[in-house]
Amino acid sequence: MQGMKIYLLEKHSRHGVDYQLFELKSAPTQGLTTRLELEWYREYQAMTGDELKDIILDEGIYVSWYGVQEPIEMYPKLLPPSWNEQDLCIECRRDTSFGSGLFVNRLPADGDFEIYNKDGEVIGTEYRDGYKCAECCAIPCDRCDDLIPLDEDITTMQVYDENDPEYSDDFSDGAHFVHLECLTAEEMDCFNKLNEEDK
Ligand SMILES: [Zn+2]
Ligand SMILES: [Zn+2]
Repeated sequence: MQGMKIYLLEKHSRHGVDYQLFELKSAPTQGLTTRLELEWYREYQAMTGDELKDIILDEGIYVSWYGVQEPIEMYPKLLPPSWNEQDLCIECRRDTSFGSGLFVNRLPADGDFEIYNKDGEVIGTEYRDGYKCAECCAIPCDRCDDLIPLDEDITTMQVYDENDPEYSDDFSDGAHFVHLECLTAEEMDCFNKLNEEDK
């Protein structure tokens, strides 16, 4: 195809190197690389039975790209897998497309993200526009540190009257997002009162 370039993905492991060829219009993006690296981790996991977290931490297991000037006929030409960069969660880079299991609860989102080289050093930032999976939308509770499911976070807005001169965006202990069950008894009283008045 015109304008397509051949890129060679080297998949490094302690046991040697595997190769995969890709035909791409432009240089591989960070998103594609992250995605393929994760696929490689999973492949490696299936091969060795090692724990995924150990594979991720192993500096000897990673992928790197090489641009190939001329197509190499002796390799079968592989087309990129049929995923769309737009469908990757902007945060964890998992596929959120229809059928992925993450489609129903994904939310449109965008933001700037740091990108890293294989040594974990920041080499720049990347703007991503797409979706966040439900897990990445969850906010940690400021009191118990567990994640609060989407739309279930409680802030002072739901507990106190905003027109009160004493009103603050944070709770008295500095917490901002909390679980309903993490409210103090006193706060819970205020929450119940406020929400009764609203009826
Ligand atoms: Zn995510
Ligand atoms: Zn909590």
